Amino acid sequence: MWLVAVCGMGLEVSGANQFIFVKFSQLYFISLWKLNRYMKFNTEEHLDENNKKLLSEIRNKMSVTFEIFNKPYFENFSINNSVTVYVNPQIFTNSSVAHELLHAWFRSLGLHGSNMIYLSAREKPKFSVVFDKKLCDHIGNCMDHYKIYPKFLEMGYVPEDFLSSKGMQCDINSIRKLRIQNNGVYSAKHLNSYIGNLISIYADHLPNDYSQHLAQMQSIEPELFDIVTEFWQAWENVDIENPDHITRTDFETINDFIMNIECWIENKSIY
Ligand SMILES: [Zn+2]
Repeated sequence: MWLVAVCGMGLEVSGANQFIFVKFSQLYFISLWKLNRYMKFNTEEHLDENNKKLLSEIRNKMSVTFEIFNKPYFENFSINNSVTVYVNPQIFTNSSVAHELLHAWFRSLGLHGSNMIYLSAREKPKFSVVFDKKLCDHIGNCMDHYKIYPKFLEMGYVPEDFLSSKGMQCDINSIRKLRIQNNGVYSAKHLNSYIGNLISIYADHLPNDYSQHLAQMQSIEPELFDIVTEFWQAWENVDIENPDHITRTDFETINDFIMNIECWIENKSIY
């Protein structure tokens, strides 16, 4: 509809405004040409050999489809046994598609994820006020990223192309501003931020120096610091491609984290 509106506006102008009409007409044809190209974009035709190989590996276990959209990033959405990868043709790169496909590959391994934390938190008011959906999704995303990054490099892509954010994952000032507790009463919002930031630091794939951040965080709340750190170290050690079905380390790692948090939170006043 907006194309018709632009064209109509051009037809009504005259005299000195003829120039504007020409410009609108050009805009119309350029936009139509771009739209046409955009709609015809077939992601699979633009995949490099590594992505094609990964795609066929994933398709052995789940269905994968591509959709185009015009957001300034790529994303994926998975439900049950299917995943949709959303691609913006104007900023298409194989490394961006690889990143999204690797999330799908990770899903195809059938491991337990951060949804376990969310579902568990939902049943307990004090837990859920800290571990909201956003934090649980963030933890899950970081867990994915830590495990898919080596495969991203193996595929031949460079570290700088793994994420669009290139700098440090959290700045020291946001750590200094944290007010976890006041007279023994804990802030859910600041606890949420504390845990989210600490996980971001651990998941950072680039060799940024977080020694100051970590020292500060440890001094703020040592016990919570140890719980999150222990969880992350355990996650680092989970062999996702050869899961041990007896010890079920992915399940155990997340379950231990939930239990440790529950224990820590039990005698705390949280608002
Ligand atoms: Zn990602």
